[in-house]
Amino acid sequence: MAKRKRSNSRTATQPTVAKESLKAPSHEQDALWRQRQWVKLFAEVTLKIRQSLQFKEILRATVTEVQRILQADRVLIYQVLPDGTGRAISEAVLPDYPAILDLEFPEEVFPTDYQQLYAKGRVRAIADVHDPKAGLSECLIEFINQFHIKAKLIVPILQNLNSHQQNEGIAPNQLWGLVIAHHCDRPHHWADFELELMQQLADQISIALAQAQLLEHLEEIVEVRTAELQEVNRSLQQEINDRMQAEAALRLSEEQLRLITNALPVLIAYVDGHQRYRFNNKAYEDWLGQSPADIYGSKIKTVWGIECYERMKVYVKLALMGQAITYENEITLKDGLPCSVNVTYIPHLDEKQKVIGFFALTSDISDRKAIERMKDEFIAVVSHELRTPLTSLHSALKILATGRLGNLSSDGKQMLEIADDNTERLVRLVNNVLDLQRIESGDVRMEKQVCNVAALMIQATESMQPMAQQHGVVLAVKPIDIEILVDSDYIVQALTNLLSNAIKFSTTDGKVWLTAEGKANTEVLFSVRDQGQGIPSDKLESIFERFQQVDSSDSRRRGGTGLGLTICRKIIEQHEGKIWAESTLGEGSNFSFTLPLLRV
Ligand code: ADP
Repeated sequence: MAKRKRSNSRTATQPTVAKESLKAPSHEQDALWRQRQWVKLFAEVTLKIRQSLQFKEILRATVTEVQRILQADRVLIYQVLPDGTGRAISEAVLPDYPAILDLEFPEEVFPTDYQQLYAKGRVRAIADVHDPKAGLSECLIEFINQFHIKAKLIVPILQNLNSHQQNEGIAPNQLWGLVIAHHCDRPHHWADFELELMQQLADQISIALAQAQLLEHLEEIVEVRTAELQEVNRSLQQEINDRMQAEAALRLSEEQLRLITNALPVLIAYVDGHQRYRFNNKAYEDWLGQSPADIYGSKIKTVWGIECYERMKVYVKLALMGQAITYENEITLKDGLPCSVNVTYIPHLDEKQKVIGFFALTSDISDRKAIERMKDEFIAVVSHELRTPLTSLHSALKILATGRLGNLSSDGKQMLEIADDNTERLVRLVNNVLDLQRIESGDVRMEKQVCNVAALMIQATESMQPMAQQHGVVLAVKPIDIEILVDSDYIVQALTNLLSNAIKFSTTDGKVWLTAEGKANTEVLFSVRDQGQGIPSDKLESIFERFQQVDSSDSRRRGGTGLGLTICRKIIEQHEGKIWAESTLGEGSNFSFTLPLLRV
């Protein structure tokens, strides 16, 4: 196909053949035989050219074979360089004649107008260079004499610039070079088939040239693609290495995590959003008799049983709603023994802050619970035993103070007052301890009845009025007419506790407010506000714990026990309410609690 195109191209450019005959072929038969040989050899050369991708090798083979076929003395390939000069880049020459290979020729040897003619496909066959008809200039003859040239045949090697344009009938050819045959011993008449052969070989070289350029282009593409692939490969390898490293680090950290968690005497687990265990430590096996493999993927309900799960599910739901939560529970161990546990759920959020699971920590608090029970029992017994002697002590001191048993000196009276104050304090303490213990142990049941909020407020205020007067504090109450279902004695106790604190921690001429308001038809909010010393923010929570006071001297100076707020919280919680404190140091405090509204 390519060959046909090249031939067409040649026809289209109308080669100019300058033939000058000197001598006719000697024997016709001999000429025919040689012609057949040439055709055979030409086929071989063409095949060699087609088979080789090495352009230099093709040129070398071409000159050698052409020299052999034409029995020329010298065949060379002359490349025309872009600046008009040229160079013999391949040559086959008989040893008797000087080599032209690698010689560079100045532009004058091959001027531009000649180049243009050759670019149009001109073929030049000169039988005798010295024949004036050949039209060679003196200086050129002088030049070619150096190389003993007697006859020469010059065929252009054209390079097709754009095959796409060629398809449209425009084939811009560029002169790439020349294939030249020389006879050096004598002039030579170039036969038609010699011209034809040279032309066809020039075409083959052209094709080889195009192939070589294509190959070069392909090699460039392959090189670029290879570099790109190598880069992709390198970054893939890097990614694989990074991933392998990350996986190894993850495995290591998982192993370490398992080692650590297995060594801890607490239950550690991770539960997903569907309440299924995704991680749990060995303690589960020790406690519940279920191995981590048994538990993995199981639901909380299955692992703990329905009864236990009933107590857990509200906290599980809260954790899955994103709330960190701690609660206490009673569980049954694998040997059937009960165990008190403290459970903490920590929600696990993804990068979009969506809860995808939670971590669960469960620790055994049976010992602590047992100690607490013992302590409570001890306190209850001791307090009870203390109450009777204290009551008679208090009564005796009161009788002494009346003076009925004889007059006391003023020092004696002072001592008696101190003894009386401290006995009262001791009675309060014992009463508080007993109250708290009773509420905590669940021994008391709140006797809830429908009560009017205003009545409770007035009752509490009235009972605190003497104390307020004693401290020079004004009590302001804003009763509201709402009904609630509460144990009135305990709610009044909570209110008086708060009022007594507010009075105690106010300065003389201070004011204390007791207010209440209904909230969203669901609850009543009570508030006791004072203008006293205030409470530091880091103590606002701890003061609700047993025996916690902002200043330890408060118990002495103000006769407190550190149990009042603990009792208040217990009472309010028994009524399903909440209690908390807000305060600004030096400006005052505000104690609030809520109680559910009576629903009719
Ligand atoms: P106490 O018998 O000591 O008053 P509470 O439990 O009632 O015990 O109160 C605990 C502590 O909280 C108090 O000792 C005091 O330090 C602080 N406190 C309570 N109420 C107030 C208040 N209205 N103003 C300032 N401090 C207060």
